[in-house]
Amino acid sequence: MTVCNMSIEGGAQCGYVNPDATTAGYLFGRKYSPEPGEAFAKARDDWFSLASDVDAEFDDYFELKGEEIEPMMTWGINPGESIGVNGKIPENAAKEALEYMEFAAGQEIIGEPINVAFIGSCTNGRITDLRAAADLIKKHGLRVAPGVKALVVPGSEQVRKQAIAERLDEIFVKAGWEFREAGCSMCLAMNPDKLKGNQLCASSSNRNFKGRQGSPTGRTMLMSPASVVACATRGCITDVREILN
Ligand code: SF4
Repeated sequence: MTVCNMSIEGGAQCGYVNPDATTAGYLFGRKYSPEPGEAFAKARDDWFSLASDVDAEFDDYFELKGEEIEPMMTWGINPGESIGVNGKIPENAAKEALEYMEFAAGQEIIGEPINVAFIGSCTNGRITDLRAAADLIKKHGLRVAPGVKALVVPGSEQVRKQAIAERLDEIFVKAGWEFREAGCSMCLAMNPDKLKGNQLCASSSNRNFKGRQGSPTGRTMLMSPASVVACATRGCITDVREILN
C-alpha cells in the first residue's frame, strides 16, 4: 500500500502491485472479505485477473534491492523531494522548497533538530508499522527526547484494537509517546493535531505539502515509522541504522 500510494506522490501516473497469493492470504477470512469458500474463490479469481500477463512487455525495468536502499526522507515540499538520510540536499534544489523548509542547497539533513514526531496515517499506520516501531523501542530501551512531542495514531479502529490487544500502547506510553484514537490526525492537521509556527515534524505520513500539518509555516519531513522512532529518540534527524547496530 505504501509503494502504491507513494508512487503517485513521486510523480507516477499509477502505482500498482500484482495481486498474488500473499494478497489473497491477507484478505482470507477478514471482516468485509467474501466468505471463505465459493464466494472467496470467485473474488480471488477476479482479483487475479487484474495481474499483468506473464508475457507482458514493459517500456522499462528497474530492479531495486530493498536492503540496499538507505533510509529515505523528504527535505522539500513534495514527497519526491527526498534523499537518503546521510545525503545532501541537491545543489539545484527548488528555491521555493528550500525557502519554505529553511534549508540550503548542498546541506546535510542529518542532525537537524525536530519538534514533533508522528507515527500514523493510512500509509504507515498499519499494525505491522506499530509493531515495528514498538519493537524498536522495547528492544533498545528508547525514550522520546526532552522537548519532542511524539504521537502514535493507528490508521484504523481495527488497528488500534489489535495494538491494544498486543499491549503495544503500553510500550509507546512508557517511552513517552501519546497513543491516540485512530484517524488521520497529523497527516492533515485533524482537530488539535497541528504543528505550531515553523515546527519541524518527523512524520510517517505521506504528504509534506506547504501547511499540510496545520501551520502555514510548519515543516514536514516524511520518513518510515522506524526512522520517526529514531528521530524522536535523538530529537533530531537520525539514521535509524545507528540504533539498530
Ligand atoms: S488525510 Fe492522510 S491519513 Fe487520512 S486518508 Fe488522507 S492520506 Fe490517509
